[in-house]
Amino acid sequence: MPFRPRLLVVDDNPANRFLLQQILGDEHEMLVTDDGEHALELCLREAPDLVLLDIEMPGLDGLQTCRRLKANPATASVPVIFVTGHDSPASEAEGLSAGAVDFISKPVSYEGVRARVGKHLQLKAQADRLRAMAYEDALTGVFNRRYFDQLLQFEGRIARRTRQPLSLVLIDIDRFKSCNDLHGHAYGDRCLRAVADALGRALRRPQDMLARYGGEEFACLLPGTVRDEALRTAEYLRHEVEAAAIAHPRAPARVLTISLGVATRVLDEHDTVDTLVEEADWRLYEAKSLGRNRVCG
Ligand code: GH3
Ligand code: MG
Ligand code: MG
Ligand code: MG
Repeated sequence: MPFRPRLLVVDDNPANRFLLQQILGDEHEMLVTDDGEHALELCLREAPDLVLLDIEMPGLDGLQTCRRLKANPATASVPVIFVTGHDSPASEAEGLSAGAVDFISKPVSYEGVRARVGKHLQLKAQADRLRAMAYEDALTGVFNRRYFDQLLQFEGRIARRTRQPLSLVLIDIDRFKSCNDLHGHAYGDRCLRAVADALGRALRRPQDMLARYGGEEFACLLPGTVRDEALRTAEYLRHEVEAAAIAHPRAPARVLTISLGVATRVLDEHDTVDTLVEEADWRLYEAKSLGRNRVCG
């Protein structure tokens, strides 16, 4: 089947939902809900390309839903069009400041809806390409340090509010310098890509995030993860890299290995995520001094 952009329609009125499905359903994959909270969940899980959002709804209204979408880096980039009955300048200004890209007024017209949706999907595709470049590490294809730092701050705020544990794994390749020295920098770069691939394979939950943290260092952020689970994940990461059997002539088993430091915290008002990074870094240092190719936490 050819690629069909995925749209989310959020409206408490069944007739409005039906009409938008009629207008857009032939060329788009449609997700539909009557509830703001559910819309947030769907955006996280299904990553729609665009949201058509009713303003007046019981429970979480359209403006609140939009603000929440925009506050989360994982959903902030999805364009939101308000479908609204009252199009006063004041309500448009409020909608735009909540993060919407456009408005469609009710009653909706077939041409108007299709033209606006088409235009914003096109703009979204362009923005996605630019964002991918800004947040991707060019060598390995995983997230870069810039994105990691942003997500760490965001997850820190969520974790503090919800009192959920937040875990961080810092990873450093063992004796990587000698690998470069023996085989050259180009081989070293191939190793970095292979390590990133292995780490990516080992992560299973969609909310787990892998980034290149520095030269031959990676970081995994594990939201809502308790200590034991984080240690298990780290051990799995270690194992997956070892099992990838990337040749390293100076390593004890002749394959490249990693050392990992794990930190878990339930943040309170006084804690910052810096303490999490410091602790993981310290544990990583410990893993190195205890002989490498191991997890400390
Ligand atoms: P340790 O087990 O203590 O971590 O030893 P190490 O040799 O890995 O540690 P060190 O920090 O001394 O060296 C890191 C090396 O990683 C330095 C550099 O040769 C290599 N490196 C860092 N970034 C890159 C990169 O982008 N490409 C390549 N090929 N090598 C890199
Ligand atoms: Mg409504
Ligand atoms: Mg290092
Ligand atoms: Mg190293």
